[in-house]
Amino acid sequence: MGWVSNDNEHEGWAAAVAPDGRLSSSSSGEGMLVEGITGRYKPDKMLPDHEVIPDSEIIGWRGACGCGWRGEMWERVAYPADADPAHRRDYVPPHKFADASSRVEDAIHDEWRAHVAPSEAVLGVEAAAREYAQAGHRLDKTVAAAKAAGASWTDIGRAVGISRQSAHERWADKQ
Ligand SMILES: [Zn+2]
Repeated sequence: MGWVSNDNEHEGWAAAVAPDGRLSSSSSGEGMLVEGITGRYKPDKMLPDHEVIPDSEIIGWRGACGCGWRGEMWERVAYPADADPAHRRDYVPPHKFADASSRVEDAIHDEWRAHVAPSEAVLGVEAAAREYAQAGHRLDKTVAAAKAAGASWTDIGRAVGISRQSAHERWADKQ
């Protein structure tokens, strides 16, 4: 239970859904643990602010993430013959632990990966922007050094791949 994104911004899991729509944050031998006390279920011994939902009462599963994201519902069906992954339906026996089956968990993991993909991709942009700024700073310093050593704007422009005029406009004020 628990997936963490590369940027550490997201922590996701495949949650079991209680009849009242609450999502499990973990499980125990007696059932799924959901946060909050309604009085309809018995409180957990270890986590007194959590209630224990018996496994037989779990109505389905959905992705959850610490950031607040929720995946679409996977419905728990009453009979094995009604299981239909293409329509987000799956069967787990009522007398067993109500964790999502491995195929549902895999599907939810994929949904969660799609949810975190943009924020992970931005990591690459951040790294490139940092390198870009460092390279720009190095360019300014080497140009200043070249000018101090007697290089002309024509020489510098040629080295950079721009015109003498452009080199002058870009760096003359920084001398
Ligand atoms: Zn998230």
